[in-house]
Amino acid sequence: MGTDTQIYLGLDLGSTASKGLLLGDGGVLAKIVVDTTPDVRGLAGEITTGLHRAAGVEESDVAGAVVTGYGRRLAADSGLPLTEITCHARGAVEHNPDVVGVVDIGGQDAKAVRLGPDGPEDFALNDRCAAGTGRFLEVMAGRLGYAPKGFAEAALSAGRRPAISSTCTVFAESEVVGLIAEGVSPAELAAGLHLAAARRVADLAEQVGLSGEVALTGGVALNEAFVAFFEEVSGLDVFVPPEPQFVGALGAALIARERSGYVS
Ligand code: ADP
Repeated sequence: MGTDTQIYLGLDLGSTASKGLLLGDGGVLAKIVVDTTPDVRGLAGEITTGLHRAAGVEESDVAGAVVTGYGRRLAADSGLPLTEITCHARGAVEHNPDVVGVVDIGGQDAKAVRLGPDGPEDFALNDRCAAGTGRFLEVMAGRLGYAPKGFAEAALSAGRRPAISSTCTVFAESEVVGLIAEGVSPAELAAGLHLAAARRVADLAEQVGLSGEVALTGGVALNEAFVAFFEEVSGLDVFVPPEPQFVGALGAALIARERSGYVS
C-alpha cells in the first residue's frame, strides 16, 4: 500500500459482537464482525490482523486507531479508548448530518443519545436487564422456535399483537407460556414481543427528549420488525444507516482520523 494513503482503524468491542473496520481516503477498505469472546485483547488483535490482511496493508500503514465498546479499556493497546456514545454519534452523523439523536440497540444494552451542534448532549442507558436488547429478542425467538429472520417476519405478518407487559426476559417467558396456552399464535406472540421491546427503547428515547429524525444503530437495527414497531411507538422519524452494526466502528475510525489532524 502506498504511503500517500492515510488509513485509520476503528474497533467496536461490544458485549455480544466485535466489529472492526479500516478507513482509507476513499472510504471503508475492510470490515469484520465476529462474536465477542472472553479474551477481548486477543480478539482485538485477531480482528486487526484480519483487517490488515483483507485490505492488503501493513500495521505500519495505519496512522491512528480508536477503540470503543464495552471491551475498550481491556484493549487500550489497540487504540485510544472512547465511549460508544461518542463513536456512535460520530458515525451516525457521517451517514446523516440531519439526525438529532442516536438510538443504539446492541446485544445486551440500549442507549438513546440526544445530539447538539457540538455532539452528544444527553443520554439514557439500559444496561441492567435484557429488556429492549438483542438478547431479549434472541431468547424469545428461541423459546418460540424461530430463527432471527423468521421471528421478525412473523412479527410483521401477524394480524394481532397481544400485550406483553413484562419486559424482563424471565417474566416475559412465563407470560408467553400462558398466552400459548390461551391459543395465541406464535406469529402474534412474535409481534407482541417486538412491540414490548420497541416500547422499552422508546421510553429511553423519551427520557432524553428525542423528537424528529434519529438514527437507529447497532445489530438490532437489522431487525425490520423492531425498526417498524419502534418507529410506530416512538413517533420518531427513524433513519437506519447502511450497515447499522458498524456505525460505532466507523465513528471510531473517523475520530482517529480527525485526531490525527488529517485533512482530505
Ligand atoms: P454489541 O455492540 O452490544 O455487542 P451489536 O450492536 O453488535 O451489539 O448487536 C448485536 C445484536 O444484534 C445481537 O443481539 C443480535 O441478535 C442482533 N443482530 C445482529 N444481526 C441481526 C440481524 N440480521 N437481524 C436481527 N438482529 C440481529
